[in-house]
Amino acid sequence: MPQRTYLITGASKGIGRALAGRLARDGHRVVGLARHADDADFPGVLLPVDLADRHATQAALERLTSQYAFDGLINNVGLVRPQKLGTIELDDLDAVFALNLHPAVQSAQALLPRMREAGRGRIVNISSLTVLGIVERTAYAAAKAALVSFSRSWALELATTGITVNAVAPGPTETELFRANNPPGSAGERRYLSAVPMGRFGRPDEIAAAVAFLLSDDAAFITGQTLFVDGGASIGKSAV
Ligand code: NAP
Repeated sequence: MPQRTYLITGASKGIGRALAGRLARDGHRVVGLARHADDADFPGVLLPVDLADRHATQAALERLTSQYAFDGLINNVGLVRPQKLGTIELDDLDAVFALNLHPAVQSAQALLPRMREAGRGRIVNISSLTVLGIVERTAYAAAKAALVSFSRSWALELATTGITVNAVAPGPTETELFRANNPPGSAGERRYLSAVPMGRFGRPDEIAAAVAFLLSDDAAFITGQTLFVDGGASIGKSAV
């Protein structure tokens, strides 16, 4: 397998961290971004940047693209602020849209020139099962739906360039982000669990495996797609 260089946003924990490990084990070079970059065991280069700060993000991307020839990008950073209709604060809605979407656009634009030049590239946007509809996630689910839409539009714009763009939509996956919003024993945990036909949560490495496939040469003819990795949750309930 050829060695590639990938940029992962939100790489220090959860799905991003699992993906960094998976790609490194497959022989690739990984550059990760997160606010906290003090993990000596990170399987690659982990750099500190607050991706909610568009100027700091732009500066980091400019530095990185002058240092590395990136073959692909995984837009993984995300933010959830659960709010029911009737209690939605516009500042929270803006923050959720901004962190889920701005770094994705900035990173894709920063890496695009080199991938175009190489005639090959990969972008994978981490969306979510919640795009199908869910309570208390107006902003988050809409932002994740925008990532599906980005994938389809960018796939069309880049169709003849050798660069593919796809989305992976995880179901509930055991990570800090998930647990912060759905602690053990909570109503949220019960609700999510009852919605997964397999009757369990996903593991970060199971999401990473799907992303690794979409990054591979084997996935060269797949673009603009959204792959649900969710234990069957997007199909519907298995119980009658
Ligand atoms: P997580 O465990 O909370 O990890 C989030 C990562 O993003 C961490 O590395 C965190 O590091 C980084 N991060 C957060 N805010 C940041 C900021 N402002 N600037 C830079 N880095 C930041 O989350 P996860 O559950 O793995 O989620 C990863 C992606 O999958 C997200 O887009 C999420 O929406 C999506 N997803 C998750 C699930 C699930 O059930 N877990 C389901 C569907 C979709 P620092 O704290 O050090 O910054």
